[in-house]
Amino acid sequence: MSAIVENKKTEVVLRKILKKEGFRLRNSQRRNGETGVDIEAEKNGKKYFIEVIGFKKSPPARSKDFYEVFFRAISRLKADVDYLVIALPKRFGDGLYQRAAKYGMGWERIGQVFPELKIWLVDTEKGDYRETSWNEWLIVEKCLCAVPDCGKCLSINCKDKACLVHSKEAKKSWRLRWEVSNKKTFPHPKNY
Ligand SMILES: [Zn+2]
Ligand SMILES: [Zn+2]
Repeated sequence: MSAIVENKKTEVVLRKILKKEGFRLRNSQRRNGETGVDIEAEKNGKKYFIEVIGFKKSPPARSKDFYEVFFRAISRLKADVDYLVIALPKRFGDGLYQRAAKYGMGWERIGQVFPELKIWLVDTEKGDYRETSWNEWLIVEKCLCAVPDCGKCLSINCKDKACLVHSKEAKKSWRLRWEVSNKKTFPHPKNY
């Protein structure tokens, strides 16, 4: 399976960063076949269990990795752990809003049930990482427009995927009409 960023690479880089930032690493990198938490770290009396994945070329393989790392992370839940961290290569961030939006309420509920759950985006090139919470990836943009054939909303403005005024079908056909009359692809990401 071809990877753009290997698991190992993400882990090695993250371990370096954490050491630099004053975390105490409580385990060393596991060898192939060894089970257990990828990185067990501690800082200011807080315990972090960190599970790491890489970034694969194929989107379905990436999704599979994501489901797997999620279950790996929550399986570490114990009374004395403060944070369950899913550490992903930075490029995962490009698709995370979409991923969260796909699950909608379910995503939000997971965040409520597991307040320990965090997502860290690791920049393996710059040797940097960004801490994010689970639920900050869920942005529901409520559409306030009540005009069903509003061109602005059907084209780009309405980002509410569950909008009752501007349905997915209406947005799709608006685009199609635009593309037919302009003979090119509509130059904005899909809003449905
Ligand atoms: Zn509108
Ligand atoms: Zn709308």
